[in-house]
Amino acid sequence: MREPMLTPSQTSAGELLQLIRGGHANTRADLQRITGLSRSTVGQRLDLLNRAGWLRHVTGSSTGGRPSQRIVFDPRHASVIAVDLETRYARAAVLDLGGTILAENTGPLDIAEGPEVVLDQLAGWFPDLIAAAGVDAGHVCGIGLSVPGPVEWETGRVIEPPIMPGWDRYPIPQRLQKAYAEHVGGSLEDGPVPVFVDNDANLMALAEQQANHRDCSAFVLVKVSTGIGAGVVVDGKVYRGIDGGAGDIGHIRLHDRSDALCMCGSHGCLGAVASGRALARDLTALGIHATSASDVKHLLAEGHPDAVRLAREAGRRAGEVLVTVVSLLNPGVLMIAGELSGAPFMTGVRELLYQRAFPRATANLQVVTSRLGDHAGVIGAAAMVVEILYSPDRADVRLSSLAG
Ligand SMILES: [Zn+2]
Repeated sequence: MREPMLTPSQTSAGELLQLIRGGHANTRADLQRITGLSRSTVGQRLDLLNRAGWLRHVTGSSTGGRPSQRIVFDPRHASVIAVDLETRYARAAVLDLGGTILAENTGPLDIAEGPEVVLDQLAGWFPDLIAAAGVDAGHVCGIGLSVPGPVEWETGRVIEPPIMPGWDRYPIPQRLQKAYAEHVGGSLEDGPVPVFVDNDANLMALAEQQANHRDCSAFVLVKVSTGIGAGVVVDGKVYRGIDGGAGDIGHIRLHDRSDALCMCGSHGCLGAVASGRALARDLTALGIHATSASDVKHLLAEGHPDAVRLAREAGRRAGEVLVTVVSLLNPGVLMIAGELSGAPFMTGVRELLYQRAFPRATANLQVVTSRLGDHAGVIGAAAMVVEILYSPDRADVRLSSLAG
């Protein structure tokens, strides 16, 4: 891991916390050495962080056998509520700040009922979840929401989402804050609980990169469920593009499928040909019962031959687009996740990539499946909340209000 270069004037308490959380510095001596700050200044800033309850001091033995004190971020001093919203169901969880799930709930809902119904239904789950996690409501520092559509990052609104009818530009954070206050308590005057929203593939990519591929500086995750989307993590940060549209590969058009109508209104989009929704349609045409990506997943799990054949072909069609993705981004890891991400789809992707991509583009590329599975969405949503609330600038503002 590269050690960040900082000058003493830049190194606020929030910056020290960043070094500690990133594993760059875990002793006072590390912090002095990296920042150039004096011993007493490091001490003052650590005091601030200690008074906030954000640090833990762990006694271990150093190389000389002498006990040493390591300073680490305390993941249990607060918790996060994370929700992974799918088209037909949602998973909600309470997690600690290190991404450990303390309690979770999965239940059916219909995203097409629109934001007011769905967000209120979700907030109705929160009181039991918080109780099951063994924390109290005051312990929750933020809510992260993963949605299957393109998100305008600054406002947390989804913009023209093809598979979220009724949600276009709806003020999701404000509505969820209100629903949280109604169901869990707390007053909006005390400052509503912070709510952050991002696209599902982005958050799954963040979770998987942090969990198992921290050293990979160019990481791509492709989610194949009802629709198809990709998340890109570069140097540990989600790459969103200029307005949140990066990775929206599901609407790239294939040249030979103008018969396939997409949810976006266009024809021949990758998502209209190779997604869970598309496979459900194709299976239905063969007389096999399938109405959703989840149904396709179950058929694949049973080894249904038509489902397996279609999933492998879908992987090849996705591979046609992924050839361009890997040529453009030169990632170290290409992860396939979501309800279709089993062996047949992976085989199709690999076949096409290695056939068509320039060898240089795949020489150091690992094509892998998800490690976190169904939990990637909530873990990523929680990681997003922690990244924002404990970023140096935000941490310094919060510390000064705690101290003041
Ligand atoms: Zn489309």
